[in-house]
Amino acid sequence: MPTVPSRLPAIGTNVFSTMSALAVEHDAVNLGQGFPDFHCDPQLVDLVHQSMLAGQNQYPPMPGVAPLRAAIAAKVDSLYGKRYDPHTEITVTSGASEAIMCAILCSVGPGDEVIIIEPAYDCYLPAILLAGGKVVTVSMQLGEQGFTVPWDLVAAAVSARTRMVVINSPHNPTGAILRQADLDALADIVAGTDILILSDEVYEHMVYDGQQHVSVAGHARLAERAFVVSSFGKTYHVTGWKVGYVLAPAAMSAELRKVHQYNVFTVNTPMQHGIAAYMADPQPYLDLPAFYQHKRDLFRAGLDNTRFTLLPADGTYFQCVRYDAISPLPELEFAKWLTAEIKVAAIPLASFYVGGKEQGIVRFCFAKQDATLELALARLARV
Ligand code: PMP
Ligand code: GLN
Repeated sequence: MPTVPSRLPAIGTNVFSTMSALAVEHDAVNLGQGFPDFHCDPQLVDLVHQSMLAGQNQYPPMPGVAPLRAAIAAKVDSLYGKRYDPHTEITVTSGASEAIMCAILCSVGPGDEVIIIEPAYDCYLPAILLAGGKVVTVSMQLGEQGFTVPWDLVAAAVSARTRMVVINSPHNPTGAILRQADLDALADIVAGTDILILSDEVYEHMVYDGQQHVSVAGHARLAERAFVVSSFGKTYHVTGWKVGYVLAPAAMSAELRKVHQYNVFTVNTPMQHGIAAYMADPQPYLDLPAFYQHKRDLFRAGLDNTRFTLLPADGTYFQCVRYDAISPLPELEFAKWLTAEIKVAAIPLASFYVGGKEQGIVRFCFAKQDATLELALARLARV
């Protein structure tokens, strides 16, 4: 038997799959892994079905079907005031995950440094390692305002080898959002350098209390050097469909497409046509903030009657809580205990830090039917 050299020796099954399996095993309400437990709009399913019946079942063009790229261009223009060329600057990908992998593999080389801001979503690290790059971490700071990015520390982390900075807003797992001043600070840091930006904006339509998502696409100084990534899985309640996209200047998109072409080549055709037709009406994504704010408020009001301490939640469908009044356990142990004994699954925040970090915080997902949230709250109130 040959020995298999591991390119990713430290990477195991991710915490989301682990906690979902544990939730099933213990018949727990799964507020761990981020996905809705309700259906998408049946009209979206109809449109995909019609596309299949119309025979749109063969390979689409490598960068995505034309109507979908046109619909994305129109949406981004109307929301963020930036016109991306659908032919050369928009690429449809197999979820945001593939977009992120391609963006990193096409631009990071051996020895290049990539700055990520922790806590960080789990898929950035393995992509950087596969590219031969070095991960440089900067930790968000937790204060009265919740988690914020210390831009002075990001500036201090930049070196001659820095190739890319990865940002994520609205932010998984903290629910924090970046504001105009944050993007301006980042633009100042990278001005005059060749540093690229990877901006993960998959929760772009989940921002609350009348606040607006500030997209890198609409920030001229950053957009000229950025891969901006989004995902229809989040926006249309179809995380299993795995359709996303990347916006980037033509030269960057051309490099990204070289990896995309030999990674998946194309993304499934009928889903693309169905989503393109559905996008003709902007109302579904314009309604999303109110839809999720109701759930966030319901969940937060319920948690107020428990011994958990709420952290701010300005965006995403995640709510982080402190549990120091309840237990001294490390986060993973606490999340497992909560799943097995209280029958509510959560995700430890420590799993979003490269070396782990114990802060006594877990993340709940509130993309659930109100009844599911109420059941979880009744159980959490007993803790
Ligand atoms: N980035 C973040 C921050 C996410 O939460 C997710 C969702 N899992 C992704 C990227 C990946 O999105 P997709 O499921 O479209 O690949
Ligand atoms: N993005 C989802 C979350 O943060 C999980 C996706 C996955 O399981 N890879 O929960």
